[in-house]
Amino acid sequence: MHVVVLGAGLAGLSAAWTLAKEGHRVTVLEKEDHVGGMASSWKVGPYTLDHGPHRFHTRDEELLRHVYEILDNQVVIRERRSRIYLEGKYFDYPLKALNVLKGLDVFLLARALADYTWIRMVQWFRPIPDTHFENWVIKRFGRTLYRLFFGTYTSKAWRMPCNEISADWAAQRIAQANLWDTIKKTLNPPREGEVRSLVTQFWYPAFGGIGALSEGYAKKLVQQGGELELGVNVQRLELEGTRVARVVYERDGRTHTLAPDHVINTAPLPRILELFTPAVAPEVRQALDALKYIGIVFVYLEVQKPSVVPDHWVYLPSNELTIHRISEFKNFSDSAAPGDSTVICCEITCRPGDERWNLTLAEAARIAERDLVSIGLLQPGESRGLDLAKLPFAYPVYDLTYKQNLDALRPAYKPLTNFHTTGRQGLYRYNNMDHSIAMGRKVARTVAKGVDHGAAEVAGGKEYFG
Ligand SMILES: Cc1cc2nc3c(=O)[nH]c(=O)nc-3n(C[C@H](O)[C@H](O)[C@H](O)COP(=O)(O)OP(=O)(O)OC[C@H]3O[C@@H](n4cnc5c(N)ncnc54)[C@H](O)[C@@H]3O)c2cc1C
Repeated sequence: MHVVVLGAGLAGLSAAWTLAKEGHRVTVLEKEDHVGGMASSWKVGPYTLDHGPHRFHTRDEELLRHVYEILDNQVVIRERRSRIYLEGKYFDYPLKALNVLKGLDVFLLARALADYTWIRMVQWFRPIPDTHFENWVIKRFGRTLYRLFFGTYTSKAWRMPCNEISADWAAQRIAQANLWDTIKKTLNPPREGEVRSLVTQFWYPAFGGIGALSEGYAKKLVQQGGELELGVNVQRLELEGTRVARVVYERDGRTHTLAPDHVINTAPLPRILELFTPAVAPEVRQALDALKYIGIVFVYLEVQKPSVVPDHWVYLPSNELTIHRISEFKNFSDSAAPGDSTVICCEITCRPGDERWNLTLAEAARIAERDLVSIGLLQPGESRGLDLAKLPFAYPVYDLTYKQNLDALRPAYKPLTNFHTTGRQGLYRYNNMDHSIAMGRKVARTVAKGVDHGAAEVAGGKEYFG
């Protein structure tokens, strides 16, 4: 059997390796000149850089053993540390009740508790529907905490009002069920394995950044006889009846045609449906145009001191700052930077193509340094712009119509018997690395055995991602 895999991120590579190990012919077609997708890493001088903070965690022991195998056991375990910087103070993230109690000004605290009590009472008489992110949070935390910890950050990072963001996003990303749950968890922390437990530990490659995972897959895939084509431009997926008959791509100025038995897609689904020949129906075209993405510009500042923050990352919700999160890779692995200097990765969200997307390294570094000086993390002139990276498909936009639009795509690809779409981009789903790996492996087994191995259920539940 010959399988073409579109995309060499974690979903694509885990699928490809699973198939290659079972003796199938696999060809991976990747647009970029490197593997790893969003979870790739690269070196600049002595530093290893990732696309923002990437910590691997899972509750699936078999998956964890698999990851150790891919990394040849070169793994470090870290205690998670992330905080929010707000109104001049740091708060633990996920929120801890005692920490919030200690950190908030007494009047603000009184308002937050009054707000929360009020909203609980209102709910007895007139339940608030989970129509959007804003309602979802206000009804569980009250308006004051919503504004302080959730609303400002989210509308800043998403660059849209919270009442235009689907409640699905809050349900997936906010660890605590409500304020009372936060208080209970502070007084009585959940044991490992409990639903919605907070992730306190994570795994990370000892060397090579998070990209060591995809590099590990790529090496093993090629050793197993798998074909890995980087820097390709997929031009068409030619359909015949209910099959993808041919995949046509261009590399180094030459056109190639493959006629695989199956195609596993892990690239952004709307972009791949655009390549279907004959073209998708106009209503599908309309729906795929409506599915939008948030892009991220990552600017890396080299700082000549051993450490800037003790955290893996810090959220910066204030609207006075352009950057919304910083991370320090040294805290993930000692091998990420030398002892006497460090790198701070600063994230700026945008819409691909807008003014922020077009920032140069010098411009972005100026903005990032100005922001970090204003909150006392850097002195003027203490940093220099080291590198700039951009991800156009960083986050799928869960607006109020995204589900409807996703459903409208299904008639274009569901009837195809040999086309499978999975992973974060292939499903337009906000999932983590462990989910992408699990989905890739399950789809590969489904294709190999002809029996559904349950890839669709991965990351489908109301679980805390992240
Ligand atoms: C800022 C940030 C922080 C994150 N932090 C964490 C974290 O802490 N923990 C965690 O578990 N997850 C985290 N994630 C999520 C994690 O990065 C993803 O879940 C995972 O990398 C997705 O892998 P994937 O293979 O599904 O998709 P991708 O990595 O997006 O792979 C898709 C691949 O398809 C390729 N491609 C695109 N178009 C085409 C085309 N036309 N033809 C061929 N190839 C194409 C892309 O170049 C890419 O290589 C984070 C994500 C971001 C953006």
